[in-house]
Amino acid sequence: MANFTEDQLIQLKTALEKRYLALKDEVNNELSRARATRDPEQDVYADNSPDDLDTALIDRQINEMRELEMSMEYLNELEFGDCIDCGGEIGFERLLAQPSAQRCIECQSKYEKAFPQEANPSL
Ligand SMILES: [Zn+2]
Repeated sequence: MANFTEDQLIQLKTALEKRYLALKDEVNNELSRARATRDPEQDVYADNSPDDLDTALIDRQINEMRELEMSMEYLNELEFGDCIDCGGEIGFERLLAQPSAQRCIECQSKYEKAFPQEANPSL
């Protein structure tokens, strides 16, 4: 595990939880917005394309929530902060800015080159 101080761990844990709750809120808001704006009369036609729910957005948010859950588990198992590809340190600043980060910057840029669609989902 990367060498974090107690204080840094607390900050990272807080950042993870905050991000997680924010995402949860966003997903809930998106779901209730889609439900609220649904026109019952159009449901007959919209059966195969459910209302205007932004499923791509929700998919991304749920994916990030899963990553955050994993990170929160790692945090307890003291494996937190290590790059899943090279095993090196991800870095405190990077984790604080992006709590779901699972790779160091180097491996992340390699990963994004290898999987450009996944890293930059088209909007
Ligand atoms: Zn790495």
